Amino acid sequence: SDKKIINFGAGPAKLPEEVLLEVQKETVHYGTSGISVMEMSHRSADYSNINDRALQAVRDLLNVPSNYKVIFLQGGGTGQFAAVALNLMGRTGSADYIVTGSWSAKAAKEAAKYGKVNLVFPKTDKYTDIPPKSSWNLSSEASYVYYCDNETVHGIEFPDIPDTKGVPLVADMSSNIMSRKFDVSKFGVIFAGAQKNIGPSGITVVIIREDLLGSPLAICPIVLDYTINAKDNSLHNTPPTFAVYVMWRVFEWIKRKGGVEAMENAAQKKSKLLYDFIDSSNGFYTSTVKPAFRSRMNVPFRIGGNGAGDESLEAAFLKGAVASGMIQLKGHRLVGGIRASLYNAVTLEETEALIKYMKTFLDQNK
Ligand code: PMP
Repeated sequence: SDKKIINFGAGPAKLPEEVLLEVQKETVHYGTSGISVMEMSHRSADYSNINDRALQAVRDLLNVPSNYKVIFLQGGGTGQFAAVALNLMGRTGSADYIVTGSWSAKAAKEAAKYGKVNLVFPKTDKYTDIPPKSSWNLSSEASYVYYCDNETVHGIEFPDIPDTKGVPLVADMSSNIMSRKFDVSKFGVIFAGAQKNIGPSGITVVIIREDLLGSPLAICPIVLDYTINAKDNSLHNTPPTFAVYVMWRVFEWIKRKGGVEAMENAAQKKSKLLYDFIDSSNGFYTSTVKPAFRSRMNVPFRIGGNGAGDESLEAAFLKGAVASGMIQLKGHRLVGGIRASLYNAVTLEETEALIKYMKTFLDQNK
């Protein structure tokens, strides 16, 4: 790669350079159309083809069963915090929320506008752990059970899929979709904003089991209505056409690289290298997340301060990182410290370069 900057941002995040170059080539004239995708009618044959192929690529990459619909919507992950409730809460009027970090907390708050929200367990200490399932308080009356598969800010990822005893399971996979294989049939709804693992911002993928369609709340806005947007093949109103097109190119890139399984193997390798290095630093670098729940995608850590983080050391680390061409490593303001995001587009070599810098910094400051 001739790119000199390594981008560890949490989102919008790095896109595969191959995809950016492909998009660059096609930006002015797409195929034989003579115009840009940005200038096309969303009803044109060329755009229909892009839309259909992108929808199909989601099905292919995630092995989506035939009784599920794939939908593209706008409004990001935040739009889905409302959409989930607006589309599903009508079933019983209440829903269970598993809150393991700031994104699921926000989703629960938003859903409470549209129905009764039950928290499955009390707030965990600083979101560094997931309580044992035996302590969860799930209700059989819930319209659905909601959780965030990977908490981007706190760096907590579920090691397995929660068992909800038949109640539809809703998952926010914004920051880990297409980074590991999973069984779609275990879910009622899966959603993901594209801007971390699968594309630019502006487009959100929703996968929904068909029997959950058809009963939105009367107040559900059309743009968030799963039933209408599924029926209209995600073309009810004007979609963010260029974002869909770029996302489709990312899907094709994932296929060329060996599919989701290849992404999973790479994610495992990259994150293990980084956590192993953190754990072997004699407490200079610390990860506060319980090992079983450490995210493969977002690795927050502190430097010095006996595990609490020494802010001046962390500032020096970030400054030195930028000087070495490594950017967007600052931790989220809620947790402070450092956060390295290792999404699909971030390579093993880039991860190794970060670790090399961390070693040098350690030697200079221990
Ligand atoms: N869920 C998760 C897991 C996220 O990481 C984010 C954004 N970082 C969101 C939801 C919110 O997404 P958006 O900014 O697209 O509304």
